[in-house]
Amino acid sequence: MSTPSDKLRTFCHPDGEKSCGACCGMYNHVDHGRDQTWQRLLERTQAYFESARIDDEESLRAFRRRWEDDAGVKLLTGLPSCPFLGFVDLLSAHEPQVVGCLVHPLQNEGVDGRDCGIYDRFLCDDYLCAAHDVLRREEARLVIDAVPDSYLYGLVITNPRFVRYLLNMVADETGARPTAKVLASPEVVDAAGRCFALFDDWPYRGGDGIFGQVKVAGELDTERRAMPADGLAVAEEPVDVLLVCLGTECETVLQLERARELVRQPLGELIRAVAKVQP
Ligand code: SF4
Ligand code: SF4
Repeated sequence: MSTPSDKLRTFCHPDGEKSCGACCGMYNHVDHGRDQTWQRLLERTQAYFESARIDDEESLRAFRRRWEDDAGVKLLTGLPSCPFLGFVDLLSAHEPQVVGCLVHPLQNEGVDGRDCGIYDRFLCDDYLCAAHDVLRREEARLVIDAVPDSYLYGLVITNPRFVRYLLNMVADETGARPTAKVLASPEVVDAAGRCFALFDDWPYRGGDGIFGQVKVAGELDTERRAMPADGLAVAEEPVDVLLVCLGTECETVLQLERARELVRQPLGELIRAVAKVQP
């Protein structure tokens, strides 16, 4: 929820090319694929510029009434999805790519429309997700360097367990935790990017698997997703932690083996890339 001015402190807007809109409800939709999400944001942003004005509170409230998702299309029905999340660069010369708050004062010459959103300006300002507490600086840097666009970025940066565990597995194989310098090398960034790209269209994702290891269990309730080998006649493997972070659900052992293989491939490339540049 934070803004470009906070970019040195937060992961929300790390550069001018991508950003995260997860806590504003970007993925809280039954149609949360890349194309559908992009289309939804685009339509909403265009409608915002056509029908609302930041200094006209009634127009903002009318926009919210028209564009706020109802419970029927949400995954976690009790979690608000803010209609004011859109493309903050829609009016720029390039293709829209940066998601953010359309009613933020930094987008509107100091006028603040966030009290008309799903929270209020204070909540929107103060909230920082757990990734800010959990991720080390070099881990966040790797995500920022390796992930090219907002759709993927929001999925990865809000999944610190995946990032940490991925690098733990690399350390187990190479004998040392990769340093910030190693993680900044182009080969490693490329290979990490292929690991993070698994989130884009993960074929073994459960219906609510876009939330990763968090499973929807009610209106606002969540529980931890079961390990994918649970209930199957097969032993757990270390890579299964990455699978659960990807929101994996498998009905058969064959599916699980295929899912593991899809993860092991880029993981192996990352291990080799780190081993090559590590002193
Ligand atoms: S989910 Fe976290 S990184 Fe994403 S916008 Fe919210 S606070 Fe920022
Ligand atoms: S008003 Fe708050 S919740 Fe809505 S898009 Fe802006 S920052 Fe996100």
